[in-house]
Amino acid sequence: CKQIILAKRPVGMPTEEDLKMVEAPIPQPGEGEVLVRSMYVSVDPYMRGRMNDRKSYVAPYTVGEVITGGVVGEVVESNTAELQAGDIVLGHYGWRTHAVVAGNQLKKIDPTVAPVSTALGILGMTGLTAYFGLLDIGQPKEGETVVVSGAAGAVGTVVGQIAKIKGCRVVGIAGSKDKVRYLVEELGFDAAINYKEADRKAQLKAACPNGVDVYFDNVGGEISDEVLALLNRQARVVVCGQIALYNLEKPDVGPRMQSQLLITSSMMKGFTLGDYAGRLDEGVAQLAQWFKEGRLTYSENIVEGFENIVPAFLGLFSGENVGKQLVRLA
Ligand code: NDP
Repeated sequence: CKQIILAKRPVGMPTEEDLKMVEAPIPQPGEGEVLVRSMYVSVDPYMRGRMNDRKSYVAPYTVGEVITGGVVGEVVESNTAELQAGDIVLGHYGWRTHAVVAGNQLKKIDPTVAPVSTALGILGMTGLTAYFGLLDIGQPKEGETVVVSGAAGAVGTVVGQIAKIKGCRVVGIAGSKDKVRYLVEELGFDAAINYKEADRKAQLKAACPNGVDVYFDNVGGEISDEVLALLNRQARVVVCGQIALYNLEKPDVGPRMQSQLLITSSMMKGFTLGDYAGRLDEGVAQLAQWFKEGRLTYSENIVEGFENIVPAFLGLFSGENVGKQLVRLA
């Protein structure tokens, strides 16, 4: 059984020295436990935060610990009444080829609804984050302008599509020409801009002729300062992620944009999916319904092989992915 552990805490961008592969015997399940073989391993930006020894909404990883996170796997052996060999399950045991998990820590997946990998993306953590953050905090109304950063990623692609379902003008911000084309031509965004282009500020302004009513922020930093400058009265800013800051060695000091909130009577609110722990089934049901109706689509960036978990994780910070980044294991 292969596992990836936090060998030491990264400074700046993590390296393969910080995240090391180790081998261990395949564990045996005890009473009430299940042996699972991983099929799809999720790599997520929030894992970077957990590699620091800093108080956050989830505890930091301890040095020597396996990197935990979402996995879709197949039950190999079960000592529970609820699960049987061959069942496909969602777990949170992280970057390992096999794991023994208490049966009640696994959720059985119905493979007839959608491909099972979607339990880690559009019908899982990232889809739900988009759903609750946009609808509950963003409160988008028909005709309003919704801007989303990190637009071509797992959360961003779902935010934009739900905002279209709600009848909004949707503007995406992403890091390449191809991503911009994908957002407009394939996902139906009204406009998208490449933040790496020199005139992005002017492009953003042109893409939002009526200002910004909802800003769903996945990245933070300068891009967000520029969006906040365009807020309308009573706008809502949803602080979902700040990926532009996760690898900084010193705190980011930028323009202070709170005056924008003041002069527009706008609201800015952070959240994590854990805030909606009691409503996850509602979210999955609605996302699955839109998917079935063909109103919601998704993209996955799948790389093959356990040895590519760390490169796939690092690729999140250089924008290698369109949609949800996953690693498929043989
Ligand atoms: P993504 O699939 O969006 O992958 C990350 C993307 O971020 C990359 O593809 C890249 O795209 C972009 N990016 C990387 N570095 C930068 C940078 N310096 N500036 C601007 N963009 C950058 O990841 P997720 O959809 O899983 O997560 C998106 C955000 O949501 C993250 O910040 C994450 O932490 C947060 N999140 C929050 C949750 C919550 O509960 N609040 C739950 C899940 C995620 P590009 O090519 O455009 O640069």
